[in-house]
Amino acid sequence: MEKADLNFSQLPFGYVKTDKNYRCEFKDGKWGEPVLTDSDIIPLHIAAQCLHYGQLIFEGLKIFERPDGKAQSFRAIENAKRMIRSADMLMMEPVPEEMFMEAVRKTVNANRRFIPPHGCGASLYVRPFLIGSGIQMGVNPSKEYLFIMFVAPVGPYYKGSGLSMVNLIVEENIDRAAPLGIGNIKAAANYAAGLRATIPAKAKGFNEVLYLDAREKKYIDESGSSNFFGITKDGRYITPASSSILPSITNMSIKQLARDEGLKVEERKIHVDELRDLAEAGAVGTAAVISPIGSITYRDEVIKFGDTPGPVSLKLYKKLSAIQNGLVEDPYGWTQIIPEE
Ligand SMILES: *Cc1c(COP(=O)(O)O)cnc(C)c1O
Repeated sequence: MEKADLNFSQLPFGYVKTDKNYRCEFKDGKWGEPVLTDSDIIPLHIAAQCLHYGQLIFEGLKIFERPDGKAQSFRAIENAKRMIRSADMLMMEPVPEEMFMEAVRKTVNANRRFIPPHGCGASLYVRPFLIGSGIQMGVNPSKEYLFIMFVAPVGPYYKGSGLSMVNLIVEENIDRAAPLGIGNIKAAANYAAGLRATIPAKAKGFNEVLYLDAREKKYIDESGSSNFFGITKDGRYITPASSSILPSITNMSIKQLARDEGLKVEERKIHVDELRDLAEAGAVGTAAVISPIGSITYRDEVIKFGDTPGPVSLKLYKKLSAIQNGLVEDPYGWTQIIPEE
C-alpha cells in the first residue's frame, strides 16, 4: 500500500488526521459493537460525567515498521493492563485486555498508510482513551463509557534528533499529582494540574519541569510526561520509587536492558542533593523514548550533565530502539507483529 503523502522524517509530535478511529460504547451494563469512524469529532452530552467530574483516562503506545515492512507494537499489553488499573482507581468501567488489543489491531490496520517507513525516525503513536460519557449531575461514577482509539504518525517529543538533550527545572511549589492523589495512573487531570508549572518553565526556555515529592519536597518524582533516571559515577541505574509517579513501561523496559547490560538497578528515593553527583541523567517515556538531560536547574544552581548524550544513556537508547524498530531479535517478547486484516 502506498504511504500517506507526508514528510515522515520531519514530523513533530502532533496531531495528524488519519483515515479512521475506533469507538466502542459501554451502555446498559455491557460493551457494544466497536465501529471505525472517519470523523474525528465526538458527540457528547453537556452533562457527561467526564466534562464535570473528570472520569477521563488515556494511554499512549507506539507502532514501528520493521525492516521487512511489517508493523509491530511495543508492549501494548502493558498499556492495556495499566488502563485497567487507571479505570479501577477512578471507578470507571475497565476495557478488557482482549478488547484493548483488538482495538489496537483494528485501528492500526485501518490506518496502515500512516505508519512511518522504517528508519525515518518516526513512529505511529496510538492514543486510546476512556471517558465517562453518561449524564451525571450528582458526583457519581458514570454508567456509560466511551472507549476511543486514534493514531497519529509522530516524530520526537522533544525537538531535535531522537536523542536530543533536554533541560529541566525543579518545580518546588506545584504538585502535579497531589491535588488529586492519582499520580500513579494516566489521567488527564494530572496534566491539567501540571500546566501551571510547565508553561512558565517553557517560557523560560526549559523543556520540562522535574517534580519533587509532595510531602517533603526533597526527593525526585518525575518530569511532566516521563520518568526520571540517573547513572551514578560507579555505573548504577537509579530511578525514583514513589507512589505518585506513573509506572512507565519504557522505564520498566530500560531497567531490564540495564540489568542485562550488567548495570546495577536501584529503584529508591533520590534526594535532590544527589543530582550533583550523577554522571548522566535522562527522561524516559513512550513519547520521550530516552531523552538525555543536559541540565537541571535547582533553585539558583544549574547542575550540568553535558551537551551530548552520555555513553550509558546512548547504549540503552540504541538497545531499546533496535528492539522497537525490529533491527534485532527481541529476546523479551515485547514486540508483537500486527497481522494485516
Ligand atoms: C505516560 C507517562 C509516562 C511514561 O510512561 P510510558 O509507559 O513509558 O509511556 C511517565 N509519566 C507520566 C506522568 C506519564 O503520563
